Amino acid sequence: MTVPNVKLNNGTPIPQLGFGVWQVPDDGARDAVAEALRVGYRSIDTAKVYENEAGTGRAIAESGLARDEVFLTTKLWNSDQGFDETLRAFDGSLERLGTDYVDLYLIHWPVLEYDRYVDTFKAFQRIRDEGRAKAIGVSNFTVEALRRVIDETGETPTVNQIELHPGLPQDELRAFHAEHGIATEAWSPLGQGESLKDPVITEVAAAHGVTPAQAILRWHLQLGNVVIPKSVTPARIAENFDVFGFELSADEVARISAVPGQRIGPDPATFNLR
Ligand code: NAD
Repeated sequence: MTVPNVKLNNGTPIPQLGFGVWQVPDDGARDAVAEALRVGYRSIDTAKVYENEAGTGRAIAESGLARDEVFLTTKLWNSDQGFDETLRAFDGSLERLGTDYVDLYLIHWPVLEYDRYVDTFKAFQRIRDEGRAKAIGVSNFTVEALRRVIDETGETPTVNQIELHPGLPQDELRAFHAEHGIATEAWSPLGQGESLKDPVITEVAAAHGVTPAQAILRWHLQLGNVVIPKSVTPARIAENFDVFGFELSADEVARISAVPGQRIGPDPATFNLR
């Protein structure tokens, strides 16, 4: 099965479907990533704060795949923001990952109150110019924070990775991203499992003979989102990858977009943990 690529605004292709490893311990990440690569995923999303960069990197190295066959994302943690701090933190991530570059480096949260994300992004530009990150982007950025990065660095981040699932379709941010050529990457795309029980989703899934998780992932793909579901269960890892053999109608996409719900994670406008 071939996963389509989304072309980022710097020309770098990112697989539209990848695999996330939040809340997976380091050893478990090694196993889960190995399984995901075996099934066919070619994009892996980790972060310094997940404490599983080492296991993730080992699984990639042991997979038998060439490094350039896997799109690897990691993220800078909040306490590492600032120009010099970022350069140091990035060295640590590369060392744990056991690689000399990442495909995508993201600022994990803007931490608006700390107000260091513009300087942090300038350090990201240096890392990218050195060839140690193929693309640079952000996560959990508000429209206001995106505007400041664009205005003050003259560069538009390639990606904004945000909480997005049925019940939180993020229409305003998706419209801003579309206008500025920023790819929308959806975290907690399955609502951490919560969205799977919604009656609209179970009905749409049944109509296509697929599972609720597959129907939701298909909804993301048809909206144009890059999506990174997580599971440590081999059957689910395979199930979440098997989403290219059916298509939702425009009406089904609209019905899933209208499912009621709310944010599960912190609100980026007020999340100031360091
Ligand atoms: P998710 O929406 O991918 O849900 C994962 C959970 O859903 C699993 O733990 C399991 O309980 C359930 N599940 C998965 N597949 C299933 C299936 N086929 N059938 C039934 N249940 C299934 O949630 P997530 O892990 O929070 O998000 C995915 C990834 O996004 C993370 O692993 C991480 O890489 C990234 N993420 C990023 C941020 C950020 O701040 N940038 C925050 C959270 C997550």
